[in-house]
Amino acid sequence: MDGSVPPTPPDTGSGCHGGRDTMLEAARAAGKSDAMDRLMADYPRGPHDQPQSMCPAFGSLRVGLRMRRTATILSGSACCVYGLTFTSHFYGARRTVGYVPFNSETLVRGQLFEDIRDAVYEVAKPADYDAVVVINLCVPTASGVPLDRLPKQIDGVRIIGIDVPGFGVPTHAEAKDVLAGAMLRYARTEAEQGPVARPRQQGDLPTVAMIGEFFPGDPPGVGALLAPMGLAPAPPLPSREWRDLYAALDCQVAAAAHPFYTATVREFRAAGRPVVGSAPVGVEGTAAWLEAVGQAANVSADRIDAAKARALPAIRAALDANPIRARVTVSGYEGSELLVARLLIEAGAEVPYVGTACPRTEWSDADREWLQERGVHVQYRASLEQDMAAMRDVRPDLAVGTTPLVQKAKEMGIPALYFTNMVSARPLFGAAGAGALAGIVAAQIGGGARFNRMVAFFEGAGAGETAGYGFNGVPREPKGARDRYRRAREARARAAEAVGN
Ligand code: SF4
Repeated sequence: MDGSVPPTPPDTGSGCHGGRDTMLEAARAAGKSDAMDRLMADYPRGPHDQPQSMCPAFGSLRVGLRMRRTATILSGSACCVYGLTFTSHFYGARRTVGYVPFNSETLVRGQLFEDIRDAVYEVAKPADYDAVVVINLCVPTASGVPLDRLPKQIDGVRIIGIDVPGFGVPTHAEAKDVLAGAMLRYARTEAEQGPVARPRQQGDLPTVAMIGEFFPGDPPGVGALLAPMGLAPAPPLPSREWRDLYAALDCQVAAAAHPFYTATVREFRAAGRPVVGSAPVGVEGTAAWLEAVGQAANVSADRIDAAKARALPAIRAALDANPIRARVTVSGYEGSELLVARLLIEAGAEVPYVGTACPRTEWSDADREWLQERGVHVQYRASLEQDMAAMRDVRPDLAVGTTPLVQKAKEMGIPALYFTNMVSARPLFGAAGAGALAGIVAAQIGGGARFNRMVAFFEGAGAGETAGYGFNGVPREPKGARDRYRRAREARARAAEAVGN
């Protein structure tokens, strides 16, 4: 890259929720000012209107659906709920998603809140559930449906109501934090008031609670890294079971490996737990992380050195065995983009650009500084347009990114990898992470020649809006069509405005 900041797309203020500013104004007028202020502070917005990817509420829904004995109920427009349930089942939820429908009348008269309360009473059976989560989507949030007035518990079943509007929570990653933080807050209050359930497995060692959703092989790997320091992993957050929340809170140190869990970190701090950033990736990342965790847990320097001596040679060997000689761009919305870039660079890759849809927080500072020292352009709250511009600018041998970016890369004949499906579905930490990432990158880069053949094959067949099936030639745009459509759109907008007035 030439070092210049890629272009920022215009902030149109529009989105699937119909316009951020209008909805925000409505939510504030409906009594949600405190909730909106909290969301704005926890999840500062980026240069672009959101969402640019899936509906952010999916993050909260997913966290609820992955927890045992937890019911999740959505309150929102039917089209949003359809999309969210579809996506959750696409990702294998195998759990019921509850829904309280509404119409203009029940919304305006306040009946929707009564309907939600009835639904919660119907579902909250202690034989079935530890907790019931209710998620307000865009319209109920903007209309001020007061989930904070739901009972806090019914027959011992905790009731947790959260607002997760697309105009207040920028990414689905941060929406995970909205629910994880709300649950942890509830559990912390319970623990402060008296005895709580014991964890299923309780060891004697002080623990480290990892914050973030990881590949299932990563937590055991972290356990092996911590063992020489006399530490063990606590159940990670977001948790899989309510009692895990107490065990996580009982940790010695919390590790914000995914750096966007602002509300969750706030609860750990309220419980008096120190929080460290970054994660054990590559040789340098792992060494720094072990030191930070060891020091936060008051482990002696000898034991920290012992942990490093055990872990680092294996990571070095894995990196040396799988060198990457390629230029790679990294973009995504998972929150682990900076960590992946560190690992790629340690494996020998040139990484000129890292874009993450997540915001800058103190828990990725060490990674950002490490990357910037090596000339990497780190773009927080990166928009798709910025990711694309970076890819066009540097012409990488491999683009790691989101679905639309990967599509664009393939059109350009650039080998590409889906971040979510390919990178997040593999270990990242320790020696296992070093070997896995290098392996998949090498396999993809090898496909470059194939992509070039494909692009050459389709040369002249039309692309973008002139792509077509069943034509003998490249479809041509009818003369003047764009102008006619633009004028018709403008006339419709003027007519709608006149009706609105
Ligand atoms: S809840 Fe909001 S952000 Fe999500 S799909 Fe519906 S309108 Fe869009």
